[in-house]
Amino acid sequence: MAGFPVVVWFRRDLRLGDHPALAAAAKGPLLPVFVFDETAWGRAQLPRLAASLFALDTAFRAKGGRLVVRRGKPAQVLPGLMAETGARQVFWNRDPAEPAPAGLPGREFPSSLLFEPGGVRNAEGGPYKVFTPYWKALRRLPPPPRPLPEPDRLGPIPEAAGESPAGTGAAGEATARARLESFLDAGLAGYLERRDIPALAGTSGLSVPLAFGELSARQVWWATVAAMAGRENDGEGFLRQLAWREFAYHSLAVFPQLPERNLNESFDAYPWRDDPQSLAAWQEGRTGFPLVDAGMRELAATGTMHNRVRMVAGSFLVRLLGIHWRAGLAWFRDRLLDHDPALNAMNWQWVAGTGIDAQPFFRIFNPAGQAARHDPDGAYVRRWAPQGPAPILDYTQARRQALAAYRGLPKIKPPTHADH
Ligand code: FAD
Repeated sequence: MAGFPVVVWFRRDLRLGDHPALAAAAKGPLLPVFVFDETAWGRAQLPRLAASLFALDTAFRAKGGRLVVRRGKPAQVLPGLMAETGARQVFWNRDPAEPAPAGLPGREFPSSLLFEPGGVRNAEGGPYKVFTPYWKALRRLPPPPRPLPEPDRLGPIPEAAGESPAGTGAAGEATARARLESFLDAGLAGYLERRDIPALAGTSGLSVPLAFGELSARQVWWATVAAMAGRENDGEGFLRQLAWREFAYHSLAVFPQLPERNLNESFDAYPWRDDPQSLAAWQEGRTGFPLVDAGMRELAATGTMHNRVRMVAGSFLVRLLGIHWRAGLAWFRDRLLDHDPALNAMNWQWVAGTGIDAQPFFRIFNPAGQAARHDPDGAYVRRWAPQGPAPILDYTQARRQALAAYRGLPKIKPPTHADH
């Protein structure tokens, strides 16, 4: 075989289209590899990951190769694989949520985002800390790069030892693309009206394919722009949601502590409660607050939860139960099919009021009011929590306590509000 193979390292970008590292390696001999590190994924995601890898392997087989899956830490597995196969370089796409091991020989290519982190800057050249000005600035920039096509042909793919993914259909790039197309056809008109009603399937359902990288944000962006042309729909509102995803990644790149520590350090002094019983009631959907319980049960049953309900349930945990947001983040991480390190972290800090662009702490969601507004005929609650226990707390009193604790904090700069 001519030349040394290039190892193409797949991560949260399990697709052939719009894959800069694959496109760059496609002409010569290449070895596509996925390094399975269980700790890098949420527990509920593992079967879905297997399905996604199976679909990627199938796509490679159609082109005369296969995907090699190895277990372990990339820092050990990749050099080992290079030594075995004579590969001298690894190509990979940047992922702000999972920096590549230092000193890995090879090349890093652009990420799956719309713009590289740092690509959207404020007047002083720094990162935006509030979403709305970030979104306005993003919209003033030239549009994101067009997605790269899937390589027509691939260079020879040598044999290498490794597991072959076993799985079933219903995942992968083609399925994700079909979902995108059907959402753009049927769901884009009326999206803004329907997206906040948890009883409806009013959103795209693209977060799972995006979490596995079966689609890139650029592919979704450009397909949406095409669907907006000459038609009345809510494409702009949908692009704005996609920009929240982008904002989460850009924030994580600038503030790597996002999944761990309060970005607003005043909250380091907050008197969080250690209350395993209440935490368990929240986790199991037994709080006695129907919208919260319905959401937590939807999560347990399906691995997903409507965005509005994530906000209400998250706010309940942090502000009314007074339990640290990290407990909520960990629970979501293990149970969400769409778990994404950047989005989960940014949203928990938003919900907790401890982040960069955060909902002000004193705006405490009233779960009953939220249910009346977003589930007025109770269809969502009836579906997931038709019967519920007595409430585990008194809303008015819990709210008062939270506000008193908040007022006692040292020098809080009120974060700017931006609802999403
Ligand atoms: P659509 O309304 O169709 O939105 C399209 C896309 O826009 C989404 O797929 C997503 O990529 C992006 N988007 C939408 N809302 C948000 C948002 N609030 N923040 C960032 N990007 C957004 N989403 C995840 O994908 N993974 C997570 O781990 C995750 N954790 C969350 C934790 C909390 C506490 C909260 C409040 C939200 C979280 N979200 C997370 C964001 C949001 O709830 C989901 O992206 C959304 O419900 C997915 O459904 P959809 O794809 O049908 O959304």
